[in-house]
Amino acid sequence: MSNLFSDTIVALATPPGVGALAIVRVAGPDAVSLVAGVFSKRSLATQPGNTLHYGTIRDPDGGALIDEVVVALYRAPRSFTREDAVEISTHGSDYVVRQLLALLLRRGARLAEAGEFTKRAFLNGALDLAQAEAVADLIAADSALSHQVALNQLRGGFSQELRTLRGRLVTFASLLELELDFGEEDVEFADRTGLRALLGEVADRVAALLRSFELGNVIKNGITVVIAGRPNAGKSTLLNALLREERAIVSAIPGTTRDFIEDEVSLDGLRFRFVDTAGLRDDPADEVEAIGVQRTRQRVGQAALLLYLFDLTELTSAQVQAEIGALTAAHPALPVLAVGNKLDLASNAQLAGFNGFVVDGSTAVQLAAARGQGLENLQAALLARVRGAGLAGHAGATIVTNVRHARALAVAAEHLAAVQAGLDAGQGTELLAADLRHALGALGEITGEISSDDLLTSIFTQFCIGK
Ligand code: GDP
Ligand code: ZN
Repeated sequence: MSNLFSDTIVALATPPGVGALAIVRVAGPDAVSLVAGVFSKRSLATQPGNTLHYGTIRDPDGGALIDEVVVALYRAPRSFTREDAVEISTHGSDYVVRQLLALLLRRGARLAEAGEFTKRAFLNGALDLAQAEAVADLIAADSALSHQVALNQLRGGFSQELRTLRGRLVTFASLLELELDFGEEDVEFADRTGLRALLGEVADRVAALLRSFELGNVIKNGITVVIAGRPNAGKSTLLNALLREERAIVSAIPGTTRDFIEDEVSLDGLRFRFVDTAGLRDDPADEVEAIGVQRTRQRVGQAALLLYLFDLTELTSAQVQAEIGALTAAHPALPVLAVGNKLDLASNAQLAGFNGFVVDGSTAVQLAAARGQGLENLQAALLARVRGAGLAGHAGATIVTNVRHARALAVAAEHLAAVQAGLDAGQGTELLAADLRHALGALGEITGEISSDDLLTSIFTQFCIGK
Protein backbone atom coordinates (compact mmCIF):
# COMPACT_ATOMS: atom_id res chain seq x y z
CA MET A 1 0.00 0.00 0.00
CA SER A 2 1.22 3.47 -0.82
CA ASN A 3 1.40 5.14 2.55
CA LEU A 4 1.41 8.92 2.23
CA PHE A 5 1.87 9.61 5.92
CA SER A 6 4.75 8.66 8.18
CA ASP A 7 3.30 9.90 11.46
CA THR A 8 0.60 8.40 13.62
CA ILE A 9 -2.25 10.61 14.76
CA VAL A 10 -4.54 10.30 17.75
CA ALA A 11 -7.73 12.04 18.92
CA LEU A 12 -10.89 11.55 20.92
CA ALA A 13 -13.56 10.53 18.40
CA THR A 14 -16.58 10.82 20.70
CA PRO A 15 -17.87 14.13 22.12
CA PRO A 16 -15.88 15.47 25.07
CA GLY A 17 -17.47 15.15 28.48
CA VAL A 18 -18.81 12.26 30.50
CA GLY A 19 -20.42 9.35 28.67
CA ALA A 20 -20.83 5.63 29.11
CA LEU A 21 -17.96 5.09 26.68
CA ALA A 22 -15.38 7.24 24.98
CA ILE A 23 -13.52 6.22 21.83
CA VAL A 24 -9.95 7.27 21.17
CA ARG A 25 -8.89 6.85 17.60
CA VAL A 26 -5.32 6.18 16.47
CA ALA A 27 -4.28 5.98 12.81
CA GLY A 28 -0.97 5.75 11.01
CA PRO A 29 1.92 3.36 10.43
CA ASP A 30 2.72 2.94 14.15
CA ALA A 31 -0.87 2.81 15.38
CA VAL A 32 -0.85 -0.87 16.30
CA SER A 33 2.64 -1.08 17.83
CA LEU A 34 2.05 2.11 19.76
CA VAL A 35 -1.12 0.79 21.38
CA ALA A 36 0.41 -2.69 21.85
CA GLY A 37 3.19 -1.05 23.87
CA VAL A 38 0.72 0.11 26.53
CA PHE A 39 -1.77 -2.77 26.27
CA SER A 40 -1.87 -5.78 28.59
CA LYS A 41 -1.47 -8.13 25.65
CA ARG A 42 1.70 -7.23 23.76
CA SER A 43 0.74 -9.81 21.12
CA LEU A 44 -1.68 -7.15 19.86
CA ALA A 45 1.15 -5.96 17.60
CA THR A 46 0.85 -9.05 15.41
CA GLN A 47 -2.92 -9.51 15.39
CA PRO A 48 -4.84 -9.36 12.11
CA GLY A 49 -7.24 -6.57 11.17
CA ASN A 50 -10.96 -6.42 11.98
CA THR A 51 -10.47 -7.95 15.41
CA LEU A 52 -11.50 -6.90 18.92
CA HIS A 53 -9.30 -7.27 22.00
CA TYR A 54 -10.16 -6.86 25.63
CA GLY A 55 -7.43 -5.83 28.10
CA THR A 56 -6.00 -3.05 30.22
CA ILE A 57 -4.03 0.06 29.37
CA ARG A 58 -1.11 0.86 31.64
CA ASP A 59 1.67 3.42 31.49
CA PRO A 60 4.76 1.20 31.05
CA ASP A 61 6.98 3.85 32.69
CA GLY A 62 5.03 4.62 35.84
CA GLY A 63 2.99 1.44 35.82
CA ALA A 64 -0.26 3.25 36.62
CA LEU A 65 -3.37 1.45 35.38
CA ILE A 66 -5.42 3.78 33.20
CA ASP A 67 -8.49 1.74 32.27
CA GLU A 68 -9.96 -1.53 31.13
CA VAL A 69 -10.65 -1.17 27.45
CA VAL A 70 -11.75 -2.84 24.26
CA VAL A 71 -9.46 -2.30 21.31
CA ALA A 72 -10.69 -2.55 17.72
CA LEU A 73 -7.84 -3.29 15.34
CA TYR A 74 -7.80 -2.41 11.64
CA ARG A 75 -5.09 -3.19 9.13
CA ALA A 76 -4.23 -1.11 6.08
CA PRO A 77 -5.85 -0.70 3.67
CA ARG A 78 -9.05 -1.90 5.35
CA SER A 79 -9.69 1.08 7.60
CA PHE A 80 -11.30 4.50 7.30
CA THR A 81 -8.00 6.24 6.49
CA ARG A 82 -6.62 3.15 4.68
CA GLU A 83 -3.85 3.03 7.27
CA ASP A 84 -3.30 0.75 10.24
CA ALA A 85 -5.71 2.03 12.86
CA VAL A 86 -6.90 1.31 16.38
CA GLU A 87 -10.02 2.47 18.20
CA ILE A 88 -9.81 2.23 21.95
CA SER A 89 -13.13 2.15 23.81
CA THR A 90 -12.62 3.38 27.33
CA HIS A 91 -14.97 4.24 30.15
CA GLY A 92 -16.24 7.68 29.28
CA SER A 93 -14.54 9.83 31.87
CA ASP A 94 -12.64 12.98 30.98
CA TYR A 95 -9.86 11.90 33.29
CA VAL A 96 -9.35 8.52 31.64
CA VAL A 97 -9.42 10.10 28.18
CA ARG A 98 -6.89 12.76 29.12
CA GLN A 99 -4.57 10.17 30.68
CA LEU A 100 -4.83 7.93 27.65
CA LEU A 101 -4.24 10.72 25.13
CA ALA A 102 -1.28 12.03 27.12
CA LEU A 103 0.20 8.53 27.27
CA LEU A 104 -0.12 7.97 23.52
CA LEU A 105 1.36 11.40 22.80
CA ARG A 106 4.33 10.64 25.07
CA ARG A 107 4.86 7.39 23.21
CA GLY A 108 5.15 9.13 19.86
CA ALA A 109 1.69 9.83 18.45
CA ARG A 110 0.70 13.33 17.36
CA LEU A 111 -2.63 14.98 18.21
CA ALA A 112 -4.77 15.00 15.05
CA GLU A 113 -5.80 18.30 13.52
CA ALA A 114 -9.45 19.10 12.81
CA GLY A 115 -10.76 16.75 10.13
CA GLU A 116 -7.39 15.06 9.73
CA PHE A 117 -8.73 11.50 9.75
CA THR A 118 -11.16 12.33 6.96
CA LYS A 119 -8.49 14.29 5.10
CA ARG A 120 -6.20 11.24 5.22
CA ALA A 121 -9.05 9.07 4.00
CA PHE A 122 -9.39 11.46 1.04
CA LEU A 123 -5.66 11.73 0.31
CA ASN A 124 -5.26 7.95 0.56
CA GLY A 125 -8.04 7.51 -1.96
CA ALA A 126 -10.71 6.01 0.32
CA LEU A 127 -13.12 8.85 -0.40
CA ASP A 128 -13.31 11.64 -2.90
CA LEU A 129 -13.75 15.19 -1.74
CA ALA A 130 -17.54 15.31 -2.15
CA GLN A 131 -17.79 12.11 -0.10
CA ALA A 132 -15.49 13.50 2.58
CA GLU A 133 -17.68 16.58 2.84
CA ALA A 134 -20.69 14.28 3.13
CA VAL A 135 -19.14 12.84 6.29
CA ALA A 136 -19.46 16.26 7.90
CA ASP A 137 -23.00 16.66 6.57
CA LEU A 138 -24.01 13.24 7.82
CA ILE A 139 -22.75 14.02 11.30
CA ALA A 140 -24.73 17.27 11.24
CA ALA A 141 -27.87 15.80 9.64
CA ASP A 142 -30.92 16.46 11.75
CA SER A 143 -33.83 15.55 9.50
CA ALA A 144 -34.76 12.47 7.53
CA LEU A 145 -34.12 14.18 4.20
CA SER A 146 -30.80 15.80 5.08
CA HIS A 147 -29.65 12.44 6.36
CA GLN A 148 -30.74 10.70 3.15
CA VAL A 149 -29.02 13.27 0.94
CA ALA A 150 -25.77 13.13 2.91
CA LEU A 151 -25.79 9.35 2.88
CA ASN A 152 -26.32 9.27 -0.87
CA GLN A 153 -23.41 11.68 -1.32
CA LEU A 154 -21.21 9.66 1.02
CA ARG A 155 -21.96 6.49 -0.89
CA GLY A 156 -20.74 8.21 -4.01
CA GLY A 157 -23.97 8.87 -5.91
CA PHE A 158 -23.08 12.48 -6.69
CA SER A 159 -19.43 11.65 -7.36
CA GLN A 160 -20.39 8.91 -9.79
CA GLU A 161 -22.62 11.28 -11.70
CA LEU A 162 -19.85 13.88 -11.92
CA ARG A 163 -17.34 11.29 -13.08
CA THR A 164 -19.71 10.23 -15.84
CA LEU A 165 -20.20 13.81 -17.00
CA ARG A 166 -16.47 14.51 -16.91
CA GLY A 167 -15.65 11.28 -18.67
CA ARG A 168 -17.90 12.18 -21.57
CA LEU A 169 -16.33 15.62 -21.91
CA VAL A 170 -12.76 14.35 -21.54
CA THR A 171 -12.97 12.34 -24.74
CA PHE A 172 -13.87 15.43 -26.72
CA ALA A 173 -11.39 17.60 -24.86
CA SER A 174 -8.55 15.26 -25.77
CA LEU A 175 -9.59 15.25 -29.42
CA LEU A 176 -9.56 19.05 -29.38
CA GLU A 177 -6.13 19.05 -27.76
CA LEU A 178 -4.96 16.69 -30.49
CA GLU A 179 -6.15 19.18 -33.12
CA LEU A 180 -4.08 21.81 -31.37
CA ASP A 181 -1.02 19.57 -31.52
CA PHE A 182 -1.34 19.49 -35.29
CA GLY A 183 -0.97 23.28 -35.24
CA GLU A 184 -1.16 24.91 -38.68
CA GLU A 185 -2.70 21.96 -40.43
CA ASP A 186 -6.44 22.35 -40.61
CA VAL A 187 -7.62 19.08 -39.12
CA GLU A 188 -10.78 18.34 -37.18
CA PHE A 189 -10.67 15.13 -35.17
CA ALA A 190 -13.54 16.10 -32.96
CA ASP A 191 -16.86 15.83 -34.75
CA ARG A 192 -18.52 19.21 -34.16
CA THR A 193 -22.08 17.92 -34.46
CA GLY A 194 -21.41 15.21 -31.91
CA LEU A 195 -19.70 17.69 -29.62
CA ARG A 196 -22.66 20.04 -29.80
CA ALA A 197 -25.11 17.28 -28.87
CA LEU A 198 -22.92 16.11 -26.02
CA LEU A 199 -22.47 19.64 -24.69
CA GLY A 200 -26.22 20.12 -24.71
CA GLU A 201 -26.75 16.99 -22.63
CA VAL A 202 -23.99 17.73 -20.15
CA ALA A 203 -25.05 21.37 -19.80
CA ASP A 204 -28.65 20.27 -19.11
CA ARG A 205 -27.49 17.90 -16.41
CA VAL A 206 -25.23 20.51 -14.82
CA ALA A 207 -28.12 22.99 -14.88
CA ALA A 208 -30.39 20.43 -13.19
CA LEU A 209 -27.79 19.79 -10.48
CA LEU A 210 -27.43 23.51 -9.99
CA ARG A 211 -31.21 23.90 -9.64
CA SER A 212 -31.26 21.10 -7.09
CA PHE A 213 -29.12 23.30 -4.84
CA GLU A 214 -32.20 25.36 -4.10
CA LEU A 215 -33.76 22.30 -2.53
CA GLY A 216 -30.44 21.16 -1.13
CA ASN A 217 -30.08 24.41 0.70
CA VAL A 218 -33.58 24.08 2.10
CA ILE A 219 -32.91 20.52 3.21
CA LYS A 220 -29.67 21.45 4.87
CA ASN A 221 -30.61 24.77 6.39
CA GLY A 222 -34.37 24.59 6.64
CA ILE A 223 -36.91 26.98 5.16
CA THR A 224 -37.63 30.19 7.01
CA VAL A 225 -41.32 31.00 7.32
CA VAL A 226 -42.08 34.40 8.80
CA ILE A 227 -45.50 34.63 10.42
CA ALA A 228 -46.83 38.18 10.14
CA GLY A 229 -50.21 39.75 10.73
CA ARG A 230 -52.07 42.23 12.88
CA PRO A 231 -51.87 42.11 16.66
CA ASN A 232 -54.21 39.48 18.07
CA ALA A 233 -54.57 37.63 14.77
CA GLY A 234 -53.27 34.60 16.64
CA LYS A 235 -49.65 34.41 15.46
CA SER A 236 -48.24 33.26 18.78
CA THR A 237 -51.09 30.81 19.24
CA LEU A 238 -50.44 29.37 15.79
CA LEU A 239 -46.73 29.07 16.44
CA ASN A 240 -47.47 27.31 19.70
CA ALA A 241 -49.84 24.95 17.99
CA LEU A 242 -47.24 24.19 15.36
CA LEU A 243 -44.56 23.58 17.92
CA ARG A 244 -46.96 21.86 20.27
CA GLU A 245 -45.38 23.54 23.19
CA GLU A 246 -45.88 26.82 24.94
CA ARG A 247 -42.87 28.67 23.68
CA ALA A 248 -44.36 31.96 22.60
CA ILE A 249 -46.16 34.25 24.99
CA VAL A 250 -49.86 34.19 24.25
CA SER A 251 -51.75 37.19 25.47
CA ALA A 252 -55.13 38.80 24.94
CA ILE A 253 -53.58 42.27 25.03
CA PRO A 254 -52.82 43.43 21.47
CA GLY A 255 -49.17 44.10 20.69
CA THR A 256 -47.63 42.02 23.44
CA THR A 257 -45.45 39.82 21.28
CA ARG A 258 -42.49 42.09 20.81
CA ASP A 259 -39.66 39.71 20.30
CA PHE A 260 -39.13 37.25 17.56
CA ILE A 261 -39.74 33.79 18.69
CA GLU A 262 -38.64 31.05 16.41
CA ASP A 263 -38.39 27.35 16.33
CA GLU A 264 -38.14 24.50 13.92
CA VAL A 265 -40.67 21.91 12.91
CA SER A 266 -39.93 19.00 10.62
CA LEU A 267 -42.72 18.28 8.11
CA ASP A 268 -42.32 15.36 5.75
CA GLY A 269 -38.56 15.41 6.28
CA LEU A 270 -38.25 19.12 5.52
CA ARG A 271 -37.25 21.54 8.24
CA PHE A 272 -39.35 24.67 8.60
CA ARG A 273 -38.10 27.46 10.80
CA PHE A 274 -41.10 29.50 11.93
CA VAL A 275 -40.56 33.04 13.08
CA ASP A 276 -43.30 34.82 15.03
CA THR A 277 -43.09 38.58 14.65
CA ALA A 278 -44.34 41.49 16.66
CA GLY A 279 -47.83 42.53 15.62
CA LEU A 280 -48.03 44.75 12.59
CA ARG A 281 -50.20 47.78 13.06
CA ASP A 282 -50.42 51.14 11.43
CA ASP A 283 -50.27 53.23 14.59
CA PRO A 284 -47.88 51.59 17.01
CA ALA A 285 -48.90 52.47 20.55
CA ASP A 286 -45.43 53.11 21.78
CA GLU A 287 -41.86 53.30 20.67
CA VAL A 288 -40.86 49.78 21.64
CA GLU A 289 -43.57 48.49 19.40
CA ALA A 290 -42.56 50.82 16.57
CA ILE A 291 -39.12 49.25 16.64
CA GLY A 292 -40.79 45.86 16.60
CA VAL A 293 -42.79 46.74 13.48
CA GLN A 294 -39.66 47.96 11.75
CA ARG A 295 -37.85 44.76 12.61
CA THR A 296 -40.80 42.76 11.34
CA ARG A 297 -40.42 44.39 7.96
CA GLN A 298 -36.70 43.54 7.99
CA ARG A 299 -37.51 40.00 8.99
CA VAL A 300 -39.95 39.64 6.11
CA GLY A 301 -37.02 40.29 3.79
CA GLN A 302 -35.21 37.25 5.15
CA ALA A 303 -38.15 34.90 4.77
CA ALA A 304 -38.31 32.13 2.20
CA LEU A 305 -42.07 32.22 2.64
CA LEU A 306 -44.37 34.76 4.25
CA LEU A 307 -47.24 33.31 6.21
CA TYR A 308 -49.75 36.15 6.53
CA LEU A 309 -52.15 35.36 9.35
CA PHE A 310 -55.42 37.26 9.70
CA ASP A 311 -58.51 37.10 11.87
CA LEU A 312 -61.43 35.92 9.73
CA THR A 313 -63.81 37.92 11.93
CA GLU A 314 -61.82 41.14 11.65
CA LEU A 315 -60.72 41.72 8.06
CA THR A 316 -62.28 41.46 4.62
CA SER A 317 -60.48 39.76 1.74
CA ALA A 318 -59.78 43.17 0.20
CA GLN A 319 -58.14 44.34 3.43
CA VAL A 320 -56.04 41.18 3.59
CA GLN A 321 -54.88 41.73 0.01
CA ALA A 322 -53.98 45.33 0.84
CA GLU A 323 -52.01 44.39 3.96
CA ILE A 324 -50.08 41.68 2.13
CA GLY A 325 -49.40 44.13 -0.70
CA ALA A 326 -47.94 46.64 1.74
CA LEU A 327 -45.81 44.03 3.49
CA THR A 328 -44.35 42.60 0.32
CA ALA A 329 -43.99 45.84 -1.64
CA ALA A 330 -40.23 45.66 -1.17
CA HIS A 331 -40.13 41.91 -1.89
CA PRO A 332 -42.30 41.27 -4.96
CA ALA A 333 -40.92 37.75 -5.51
CA LEU A 334 -41.55 36.53 -1.97
CA PRO A 335 -43.99 33.61 -1.89
CA VAL A 336 -46.98 34.30 0.36
CA LEU A 337 -49.43 31.97 2.01
CA ALA A 338 -52.56 33.64 3.46
CA VAL A 339 -54.07 31.96 6.50
CA GLY A 340 -57.39 32.93 8.07
CA ASN A 341 -57.62 32.24 11.81
CA LYS A 342 -60.45 31.97 14.37
CA LEU A 343 -62.56 29.82 12.11
CA ASP A 344 -64.52 28.85 15.23
CA LEU A 345 -65.73 32.45 15.69
CA ALA A 346 -66.41 33.34 12.06
CA SER A 347 -70.02 33.74 10.91
CA ASN A 348 -71.27 32.22 7.68
CA ALA A 349 -71.42 35.68 6.14
CA GLN A 350 -67.80 36.32 7.10
CA LEU A 351 -66.72 32.98 5.68
CA ALA A 352 -68.64 33.64 2.44
CA GLY A 353 -66.43 36.69 1.93
CA PHE A 354 -63.41 34.38 1.72
CA ASN A 355 -64.96 31.85 -0.62
CA GLY A 356 -62.38 31.01 -3.29
CA PHE A 357 -59.97 33.56 -1.81
CA VAL A 358 -56.63 33.07 -3.58
CA VAL A 359 -53.41 34.84 -2.68
CA ASP A 360 -50.21 34.42 -4.68
CA GLY A 361 -51.65 31.43 -6.50
CA SER A 362 -52.84 29.40 -3.53
CA THR A 363 -56.17 29.23 -1.79
CA ALA A 364 -56.12 30.81 1.65
CA VAL A 365 -56.07 28.26 4.46
CA GLN A 366 -58.70 28.53 7.21
CA LEU A 367 -58.09 27.28 10.70
CA ALA A 368 -58.63 27.77 14.41
CA ALA A 369 -55.17 27.89 15.90
CA ALA A 370 -56.38 27.92 19.49
CA ARG A 371 -58.20 24.62 18.92
CA GLY A 372 -55.52 23.06 16.74
CA GLN A 373 -58.22 22.77 14.08
CA GLY A 374 -57.16 22.81 10.42
CA LEU A 375 -53.44 22.54 11.17
CA GLU A 376 -53.06 19.62 8.78
CA ASN A 377 -54.42 21.84 5.97
CA LEU A 378 -51.78 24.41 6.80
CA GLN A 379 -49.04 21.80 6.81
CA ALA A 380 -50.21 20.44 3.47
CA ALA A 381 -50.35 23.95 2.02
CA LEU A 382 -46.82 24.71 3.26
CA LEU A 383 -45.43 21.56 1.69
CA ALA A 384 -47.31 22.26 -1.52
CA ARG A 385 -45.83 25.76 -1.68
CA VAL A 386 -42.31 24.49 -1.15
CA ARG A 387 -42.77 21.79 -3.76
CA GLY A 388 -44.53 24.16 -6.14
CA ALA A 389 -41.52 26.46 -6.01
CA GLY A 390 -39.66 23.64 -7.74
CA LEU A 391 -38.06 22.74 -4.48
CA ALA A 392 -39.02 19.14 -4.16
CA GLY A 393 -39.96 16.09 -6.18
CA HIS A 394 -36.28 15.28 -6.33
CA ALA A 395 -36.71 12.01 -4.47
CA GLY A 396 -33.92 9.64 -5.34
CA ALA A 397 -32.22 12.18 -7.61
CA THR A 398 -28.92 13.76 -6.74
CA ILE A 399 -29.34 16.92 -4.72
CA VAL A 400 -26.53 19.42 -4.32
CA THR A 401 -26.38 20.72 -0.75
CA ASN A 402 -22.92 22.20 -0.59
CA VAL A 403 -22.22 25.84 -1.55
CA ARG A 404 -18.76 24.95 -2.80
CA HIS A 405 -20.25 22.38 -5.15
CA ALA A 406 -22.92 24.81 -6.36
CA ARG A 407 -20.27 27.43 -7.13
CA ALA A 408 -18.17 24.94 -9.07
CA LEU A 409 -21.23 23.81 -11.03
CA ALA A 410 -22.02 27.43 -11.89
CA VAL A 411 -18.48 27.90 -13.22
CA ALA A 412 -18.77 24.69 -15.23
CA ALA A 413 -22.14 25.82 -16.65
CA GLU A 414 -20.67 29.14 -17.68
CA HIS A 415 -17.77 27.55 -19.57
CA LEU A 416 -19.98 24.91 -21.18
CA ALA A 417 -22.19 27.72 -22.46
CA ALA A 418 -19.09 29.46 -23.81
CA VAL A 419 -18.06 26.31 -25.72
CA GLN A 420 -21.59 26.05 -27.13
CA ALA A 421 -21.56 29.70 -28.20
CA GLY A 422 -18.07 29.23 -29.64
CA LEU A 423 -19.21 26.27 -31.72
CA ASP A 424 -22.15 28.28 -33.07
CA ALA A 425 -19.82 31.13 -33.96
CA GLY A 426 -17.36 28.79 -35.68
CA GLN A 427 -14.70 29.66 -33.12
CA GLY A 428 -11.17 28.25 -33.42
CA THR A 429 -10.11 25.09 -31.62
CA GLU A 430 -7.87 26.95 -29.20
CA LEU A 431 -10.66 28.91 -27.54
CA LEU A 432 -13.02 25.94 -27.50
CA ALA A 433 -10.38 23.77 -25.88
CA ALA A 434 -9.63 26.41 -23.25
CA ASP A 435 -13.27 26.73 -22.19
CA LEU A 436 -13.74 22.99 -22.15
CA ARG A 437 -10.66 22.67 -19.93
CA HIS A 438 -12.14 25.21 -17.51
CA ALA A 439 -15.45 23.35 -17.40
CA LEU A 440 -13.64 20.07 -16.73
CA GLY A 441 -11.55 21.74 -14.05
CA ALA A 442 -14.62 23.04 -12.26
CA LEU A 443 -16.31 19.62 -12.28
CA GLY A 444 -13.08 18.00 -11.11
CA GLU A 445 -12.80 20.39 -8.18
CA ILE A 446 -16.01 19.05 -6.70
CA THR A 447 -14.73 15.52 -6.29
CA GLY A 448 -11.17 16.67 -5.65
CA GLU A 449 -9.69 15.15 -8.80
CA ILE A 450 -8.29 18.63 -9.02
CA SER A 451 -7.51 20.23 -5.66
CA SER A 452 -5.17 22.64 -3.97
CA ASP A 453 -3.76 22.70 -0.44
CA ASP A 454 -5.75 25.83 0.31
CA LEU A 455 -8.98 24.19 -0.74
CA LEU A 456 -8.29 21.10 1.36
CA THR A 457 -7.36 23.18 4.37
CA SER A 458 -10.50 25.27 4.12
CA ILE A 459 -12.67 22.16 3.87
CA PHE A 460 -11.13 19.99 6.55
CA THR A 461 -10.62 22.67 9.18
CA GLN A 462 -14.43 22.95 9.32
CA PHE A 463 -14.52 19.44 10.74
CA CYS A 464 -13.89 18.88 14.41
CA ILE A 465 -10.90 17.11 15.84
CA GLY A 466 -11.35 13.35 15.81
CA LYS A 467 -13.31 13.30 12.51
P1 GDP B 1 -50.86 37.54 18.11
O1 GDP B 1 -50.87 38.92 18.67
O2 GDP B 1 -51.12 37.55 16.65
O3 GDP B 1 -49.63 36.76 18.44
O4 GDP B 1 -52.11 36.78 18.76
P2 GDP B 1 -52.15 35.72 19.96
O5 GDP B 1 -51.63 34.40 19.51
O6 GDP B 1 -51.49 36.34 21.15
O7 GDP B 1 -53.72 35.56 20.14
C1 GDP B 1 -54.55 36.64 20.46
C2 GDP B 1 -55.82 36.12 21.10
O8 GDP B 1 -56.60 35.40 20.17
C3 GDP B 1 -55.57 35.19 22.29
O9 GDP B 1 -56.51 35.49 23.29
C4 GDP B 1 -55.82 33.84 21.69
O10 GDP B 1 -56.26 32.89 22.65
C5 GDP B 1 -56.93 34.12 20.70
N1 GDP B 1 -56.98 33.15 19.61
C6 GDP B 1 -55.93 32.71 18.84
N2 GDP B 1 -56.36 31.81 17.95
C7 GDP B 1 -57.68 31.63 18.13
C8 GDP B 1 -58.67 30.79 17.51
O11 GDP B 1 -58.43 30.01 16.60
N3 GDP B 1 -59.95 30.91 17.98
C9 GDP B 1 -60.27 31.76 19.01
N4 GDP B 1 -61.53 31.80 19.40
N5 GDP B 1 -59.35 32.53 19.62
C10 GDP B 1 -58.08 32.49 19.19
ZN1 ZN C 1 -48.09 37.19 19.36
